[in-house]
Amino acid sequence: MGFCLFGNVAVGALYAQKRHGFERILIADWDVHHGNGTQAIVEGEPGIHFVSMHQSPWYPGTGAASDRGPDGTIWNIPMEAGLVPTAYVDAFEKGIDAATRNFVPDLILLSAGFDSRAGDPLGGFTLELEHFDALTRSMVARAESWCGGRLVSSLEGGYAPDRLGEACVVHIEALA
Ligand SMILES: [Zn+2]
Repeated sequence: MGFCLFGNVAVGALYAQKRHGFERILIADWDVHHGNGTQAIVEGEPGIHFVSMHQSPWYPGTGAASDRGPDGTIWNIPMEAGLVPTAYVDAFEKGIDAATRNFVPDLILLSAGFDSRAGDPLGGFTLELEHFDALTRSMVARAESWCGGRLVSSLEGGYAPDRLGEACVVHIEALA
């Protein structure tokens, strides 16, 4: 719908299954927009669980909490703009908990969109560097306990270049 030419993370998940034999993949998406393309590609794949937290109401208008996909493998977390940042962190963590209750991933793919940072011109979330640091460390810890630390992060949104760059540095330091 205009933001992506290819669904990189969805393609990566399917490639990891078919080429590398991973059976269970968790895709976690904190970009401020619903991962509608990712959901469309993976929602028929029982071995892929997808968690998307996104601003609602907001473009592209999809991603209601009631939309669990045809097989219940989708966890959409629509959130209002302008909440305290810990509300987003807590909701994201709860979504990851729900998606992995009876599902231990072999691999985590992260749709790391930083248009969820405060001040982004295309979003109204309030996350700051400390929250991306915390979210990243949480996902790394989960990957270490579930699957030998296998986590691949893919840059998605972020439309204030200086602020995007700062968030990327914090994210990469936390990954490392
Ligand atoms: Zn976005």
